[in-house]
Amino acid sequence: PAKPIFAGQLPAGLQTISNIVAVSSCKGGVGKSTVAVNLAYTLAGMGARVGIFDADVYGPSLPTMVSPENRLLEMNPEKRTIIPTEYLGVKMVSFGFAGQGHAIMRGPMVSGVINQLLTTAEWGELDYLVIDMPPGTGDIQLTLCQVVPLTAAVIVTTPQKLAFIDVAKGVRMFSKLKVPCVAVVENMCHFDADGKRYYPFGRGSGSQVVQQFGIPHLFDLPIRPTLSASGDSGTPEVVADPQGEVAKTFQNLGVCV
Ligand code: ADP
Repeated sequence: PAKPIFAGQLPAGLQTISNIVAVSSCKGGVGKSTVAVNLAYTLAGMGARVGIFDADVYGPSLPTMVSPENRLLEMNPEKRTIIPTEYLGVKMVSFGFAGQGHAIMRGPMVSGVINQLLTTAEWGELDYLVIDMPPGTGDIQLTLCQVVPLTAAVIVTTPQKLAFIDVAKGVRMFSKLKVPCVAVVENMCHFDADGKRYYPFGRGSGSQVVQQFGIPHLFDLPIRPTLSASGDSGTPEVVADPQGEVAKTFQNLGVCV
């Protein structure tokens, strides 16, 4: 079982952060990083001081989704701290900016790396730190949740039934840890073509989660070529199209966290 690493003592690096929000999913590829990044830039657009911590050490997406000028984290050798890189005013730390290539590590080592990156970063004063969680509900996630005082969790899912079963696990993990799950984002729920709306993965898994677990908010994100294109181009959709439908959804999500 995962043990709290800090034994109740909050590391100095996290003491200047008001809200720590986990964006979580139980499967890879459901759009967790897309949601984390767009949520972070939405909060920044609302005037908050924001950081993103990409805890997905096995598949860090942040370096693809944003294009900061400085693509390598710098160290402060005297203080032994990491200086986050920054893009459009949002501070960021990701293993993908550590210049180490792909990670081949066992769980405890991953927890150690995540821990070090997160707690030795010079986040400074932040209103929100958005954590892009590693997918799943194993030891790595549990350790992270136990050591970081999360203020809220957002769960990302897709409409398939299988995804629902996995999400239920995530919801249970957060509720055991007494972290409030404030919203479910049902991603890739539909697309519009020829004046019609299509639901390629079926409907209703998000509302099932909301009903079953009493999560207060459910947001739908459509399949949109611009969402994936903006993810690949390094400019988040909410930055590229701040008045668009997706940006409005994220503003509503931003208010919940
Ligand atoms: P995860 O973090 O859960 O692994 P990502 O956010 O990296 O998932 O998304 C996986 C891929 O799907 C990315 O290429 C992303 O741009 C794309 N994607 C995610 N959500 C959407 C969407 N609603 N419409 C189109 N493409 C999407």
